[in-house]
Amino acid sequence: MAADKRRRTVIVGASAAGVATAEALRRLGYAGEIVIVGEEPELPCDRPPLSKQILQGALEPAKAALLSPQRYERVAATWRLGVSAVGLDTGRREVALDDDTVLGYDDVVIATGVRPRSLPGGDLAGIHVLRTLDDALALHSALTAQRRLVVIGAGFLGLEVAATARRLGAEVTVVDPDTEPLMSRLGRVAATRLLEVHAARGVEFRLGAGIGGFEGDAAGTVRRVVLSDGESLDAPVVLVAIGCVPNVEWLNDPVLDVSNGVGCDEYCRAAQGVWAAGDVARWRHPVLNRSLRIEHRINASEQANAVAANIMGRGIPYAPIPFFWTDQYENKVQVAGIINDAASEKVLELDQGNGFVCTYHSEGRLAAVLAWNAAKAMMPYRQQLRAENQVPST
Ligand SMILES: Cc1cc2nc3c(=O)[nH]c(=O)nc-3n(C[C@H](O)[C@H](O)[C@H](O)COP(=O)(O)OP(=O)(O)OC[C@H]3O[C@@H](n4cnc5c(N)ncnc54)[C@H](O)[C@@H]3O)c2cc1C
Repeated sequence: MAADKRRRTVIVGASAAGVATAEALRRLGYAGEIVIVGEEPELPCDRPPLSKQILQGALEPAKAALLSPQRYERVAATWRLGVSAVGLDTGRREVALDDDTVLGYDDVVIATGVRPRSLPGGDLAGIHVLRTLDDALALHSALTAQRRLVVIGAGFLGLEVAATARRLGAEVTVVDPDTEPLMSRLGRVAATRLLEVHAARGVEFRLGAGIGGFEGDAAGTVRRVVLSDGESLDAPVVLVAIGCVPNVEWLNDPVLDVSNGVGCDEYCRAAQGVWAAGDVARWRHPVLNRSLRIEHRINASEQANAVAANIMGRGIPYAPIPFFWTDQYENKVQVAGIINDAASEKVLELDQGNGFVCTYHSEGRLAAVLAWNAAKAMMPYRQQLRAENQVPST
């Protein structure tokens, strides 16, 4: 199969997961044609720096490119950028594009990611979301012109932007209906520490407050955010960071399960010859024995590798230990595994600096480990996680 030059794989979505699938296919010796379809007009840059160095103005966007020119060459793909997929027919094995072309395939990889959720009334000028390079550049220039930001949503993205905006000298207020944001994702100790770090840097919080609406001026530019308790916040710039929705609307074939992303089996296969990877993919984790859809960078690459291997006929179930990180001010927080019993939290303070490690257990096994400025101390726990959960190394 690897040497069959007549095969064609169509990858829809030209970002982290899509591009990594193409690279992995070539690494594994795939000799057929690879067509990569992406609706952004250029190859998107890697997204993690968007809320950090690029928003801050500390990194040239070109330095966050997904592929170096050499790697771009090596992928040897046909790139269809600035074009959207608008339909998938699994019976005829065809992808329809919005430029009226139809691509036949032997295998198709759905890597269309997610897009930010919006709020009613959120179309006033000055209300931002953050997913693309253009979004980051627009928010950067808004923050350098108007040094006051209201962030709606105290998740990872909202808090990363709050940290960067403080570094840019903006006053920042973060609003979230949850009184204990990030508790379920980071556990009690790290979630509390993170809010303390932000408060110490001057970020104000309105927790437990919903959004009542936005007030704009005659020109249609946002001026105030009105909270559900009646408080009204001065808001020349607003970031809405309340989560994302999977890009599945183009998948109109009834064979596919597109409730909460693209439903796949443990091989990341959604149907015969149809695979999914990255933020859009929901698959059955064969060891944790649950359905997962993960919106984190490492998963996009690891799942892409698994999909490429399975296109090559290797038949390997995708069984990662989920991993993500977030950078806020000078702090790096990393989590491996899934914190599903925050009550089992055990904290190990390290001797040097402000680093610490937390462990979480479930059914007598290590289920997750969190490291706060303690990447090295985390290593043995990651091995323990694999061993105790019988997850093979990738
Ligand atoms: C600002 C920001 C900061 C982040 N920071 C971190 C971090 O610190 N740590 C971490 O672990 N993760 C982080 N992430 C998450 C990480 O970047 C994502 O998990 C990763 O980008 C997912 O890659 P993907 O290829 O699955 O999806 P995406 O990157 O969303 O790419 C999907 C692509 O498909 C295209 N597309 C959609 N529909 C169609 C269609 N119909 N036809 C053609 N193309 C289509 C889209 O335009 C897009 O280019 C961050 C994300 C953002 C936005």
